[in-house]
Amino acid sequence: MRLSWRDLGMPRADRAHGKAVEISGFPATILPTPTADHFLMMAEPGCCADCVPNNPLAVVEIVADRPLKLGNGAVRLSGTWQVSVDPDGWRYQLHAAEVMPGISRRAVLAASPLFCLPVPAMAQTDGTAVDLHSHGGNLIKASYGRDSLLDVATPMRNGGMSTICLCIVGDGPVLNVSSGRIRPSRDPKPGELYDASKIQFAKLHELIRSQSMAIVRTAADLRAARASQPSVIVTSEGADWLDGKIERLDEAYRRWQLRQLQLTHYRPNELGDIQTEPSVHGGLTDFGAEVIRRCNAMGIVVDVAHGTFDLVKRAVATTTKPMILSHTALSDRPYPWTRLITSDHARAIASIRGVIGIWPVTQVANVAAYAESIARMVDVVGVDHVGIGTDQLGLQGPSAMPSYADLPQLAAALSSRFKPAEISKLLGGNYRRVFETCIA
Ligand SMILES: [Zn+2]
Ligand SMILES: [Zn+2]
Repeated sequence: MRLSWRDLGMPRADRAHGKAVEISGFPATILPTPTADHFLMMAEPGCCADCVPNNPLAVVEIVADRPLKLGNGAVRLSGTWQVSVDPDGWRYQLHAAEVMPGISRRAVLAASPLFCLPVPAMAQTDGTAVDLHSHGGNLIKASYGRDSLLDVATPMRNGGMSTICLCIVGDGPVLNVSSGRIRPSRDPKPGELYDASKIQFAKLHELIRSQSMAIVRTAADLRAARASQPSVIVTSEGADWLDGKIERLDEAYRRWQLRQLQLTHYRPNELGDIQTEPSVHGGLTDFGAEVIRRCNAMGIVVDVAHGTFDLVKRAVATTTKPMILSHTALSDRPYPWTRLITSDHARAIASIRGVIGIWPVTQVANVAAYAESIARMVDVVGVDHVGIGTDQLGLQGPSAMPSYADLPQLAAALSSRFKPAEISKLLGGNYRRVFETCIA
């Protein structure tokens, strides 16, 4: 029988126990790897490395008798379905898994040398593009001493990306990898996430210094930003390190030049609910509303990515400035625990003159599919409310635009549908408008 992700958590999935089934999804391996015999699969490509929804109904554990070839993007698997009652294990497992034909697993579009690009495509990036959400430079792993920083400034210069919103991860320490499984392990200890935020912010500043990048502190800084000297907007994905203390926002603004804050991540925190877990607060909390008002007053861009639609509704009613939703895509029929958003969710962001950053997460990982995903969102909210949020080096699965050096290719792909002035808005102009309104 063929199982769908909508069956998970329903009697149909339980009845399939012990039966031969087929299911399609996105493998989540700890490291990019061509083959694997034990991995997790999700309905959609995952967000940030080390982050998988901890809801067991959103994940299938795959166990194969021999290493399976994992292509680029979705795979269709067959195997024997097992429903586990082990409270510490994943609920659903596929044993003796085999890859089935039927889903294209084309290789990542090779990064063409820049001299192959049509000249107009290069011109369209105009060197002022902004990425609304990035972990570029290998910041996540480097912060935890698991790897070193990578060069992000050179591909930015080569591709025409002037500025990236570079993120620390607020709840990173409690999202854990152990024995082939990625799971949130526990509640944070008192002060743990605050301490971890300081280590990550310090590493972020080390990256900026060591690669001679600039920090965007003011609207004038962003106006002046060009890819010839790449720059960073200091950002946090998750405000977990506030621990409910509003004064830490002022501290982060001064000490770390924080200018963008995503309220929630993969842990329902003191600010509100997330898309990948059951609701705890009914949306945005009173503290979450207080943080938005303080961000409005201080000049920090608020990002409601990962938040539930209920959180977004109250955030929209609270804020006096435009907000962003930095990394997502449109879904007409959202899966349970999805990170994608519906048209109504998207229109709520547009209603306060905000911007939605589109993920390079596509069925086939290439810039043409990425451009289509951007165009789909433009069809819903208009060309003034869409941008790009690459989540570079934060994605579990393959990226349709793995390097900033590929940006001219994206511009070229967009040019079949949009005029140069519109492409300029999508690649950074819309975000710059939001930033200038928030930071003024
Ligand atoms: Zn994320
Ligand atoms: Zn991220």
